[in-house]
Amino acid sequence: MAEGLGDWDVLIVGGGIAGASLAYRLAPHRRVVVLEREAQPGYHTTGRSAASLSENLGSPVIRALTALTRPFLADPPAGFSPVPLMAPLGWLFVARADQRAAYQESLAEAKASAPHVRELGRAGALALHPLLDPDYVAHAYLEPDAMALDVDAILQAYYRGFRAAGGRLIADAEVRAIGREDGVWRLDTAAGTIRAPVIVNASGAWADQVAALAGAKSIGLVPKRRTAMILDVPAGVNNARWPEIDCVSGEFYLKPEAGKFLASPCDETPSEPTDAQADELDIAICVERIERATTLKVRRVERRWAGLRSFVADRNPVAGFAPETEGFFWLAGQGGAGIQTSAGLSATAAGLILGREWPALLTERGIAPANLSPARPMSPAQPGSAL
Ligand SMILES: Cc1cc2nc3c(=O)[nH]c(=O)nc-3n(C[C@H](O)[C@H](O)[C@H](O)COP(=O)(O)OP(=O)(O)OC[C@H]3O[C@@H](n4cnc5c(N)ncnc54)[C@H](O)[C@@H]3O)c2cc1C
Repeated sequence: MAEGLGDWDVLIVGGGIAGASLAYRLAPHRRVVVLEREAQPGYHTTGRSAASLSENLGSPVIRALTALTRPFLADPPAGFSPVPLMAPLGWLFVARADQRAAYQESLAEAKASAPHVRELGRAGALALHPLLDPDYVAHAYLEPDAMALDVDAILQAYYRGFRAAGGRLIADAEVRAIGREDGVWRLDTAAGTIRAPVIVNASGAWADQVAALAGAKSIGLVPKRRTAMILDVPAGVNNARWPEIDCVSGEFYLKPEAGKFLASPCDETPSEPTDAQADELDIAICVERIERATTLKVRRVERRWAGLRSFVADRNPVAGFAPETEGFFWLAGQGGAGIQTSAGLSATAAGLILGREWPALLTERGIAPANLSPARPMSPAQPGSAL
C-alpha cells in the first residue's frame, strides 16, 4: 500500500525552476511540499537552458518580470547562495544589410527596456567578436549588461532556502491522480498519497495534462522543442570575454560557454510533453547558419540536447488561480525565459496565493493580474515576441 504523505497547506506539482522558486517564496508562510516525478528536479527544461539573462527579449510582460528578477539574482538575500548566481556576458544583436527594418525595430525595443544598449556598427561588432564574418554583419547593437546565469546554483539556492523554512521536496513522486473532497485535494503519487487545500501546477510541458487530472480547464499550452549544442572554439582562441551573439531575425545564437560555444538554431517545433531529444536536421541547420554568419568551421558537435519551452497563445506566463476550479493555481507557460524571470514571477505568484500586494514595478509598466491570469483571453502572439 502507498505511503501516506500527510496533510499540507500547498502542494506544488513539478520541481523545475518554477516549482522551486515558488516553493522558496511560500515556505516561510505555508507548509509546502514539492512533488517531482524525476529523481532530479532539474532534469527537464530547467537543466537544458542556455543560461542567459537579457532585458531585451520577449514581450513587455517577460521584460518586466526579468527586470524584477535581475536585482534578486545580482544581490540575493544573505546566505541564499555560496557562489555568485550571475556573471557578465554582454549580448550582441547582429543583422544583415537586408534586415535593416527588423534591426531598427529591434533596436528601438531594446533601448526602451535595456538602459545601456548602444549601437556598434560592423567594425565595433567585429572588434568584440572577431569570428563574425564582415560580409554577413551590416548592423549591430550591444546590450552590455546581459548576464550568464548559473542555473544549477540558482535552483539549488531556491531549494536550500525552501528546506531551511521547513519545506519538503519529494522526488520520484509522479502525480498520477488528483481528486477533491470536502475542500481538500488528494494527490495519488508514485511516492504515496498526500493532501492539501491548494495545489500549484508547475509541471512545465505537462501542465495541461496535470490540469486534466484535476478536472481544470486547459490553457492551450504548446511545448516547443529547442535544440542546443556545444561546439569547439578554434585552437588558440580565448572567447571568455566575448559577448553572446544573437541575430535580430532569430536564426541562431552563439554563447561563450566554459571555453567552448553553446549554439542554437532557435527552433520551435511543437511537441508532445516528453523527454525531448535533439534532431539531426536541427543540428545541421544550426551549423549551416553559424558557418554563414561567422568564419567558424564546425568540425564536430561535442554535445547536443533539446528541451521543451512551453507557451500559451500570447506567449506570456500564466500565474493565477483557475477561476472555475477551487484551490488550483497555475504557474506555467514561461517559454524561453523561465530562469531569467524566476525570482520576479515567483514573488508575484506567491503574492497572489498569499493575498499580498501586486509588485509596484509591474503596475508601473501597466501589467495587472489579468495579464497573467489563466482566465485571460489567450490572443495570438505578437510578431517579434519570440524568445
Ligand atoms: C535550449 C533552451 C534554452 C533556454 N534558454 C533560456 C535562457 O537562456 N534563459 C531563461 O531564462 N530560460 C531559458 N530557457 C527556458 C527555461 O529553461 C524554461 O522557461 C524553464 O526551465 C521552465 O521551468 P519549469 O519549472 O516550468 O519546467 P521544467 O524544468 O520542465 O519543470 C517541470 C517539472 O515538472 C515535472 N512533472 C511533470 N509532470 C509531473 C507529474 N505528473 N508529477 C510530478 N512532476 C511532474 C517534470 O518532471 C519537470 O521536472 C531555455 C530553454 C531551452 C530548452
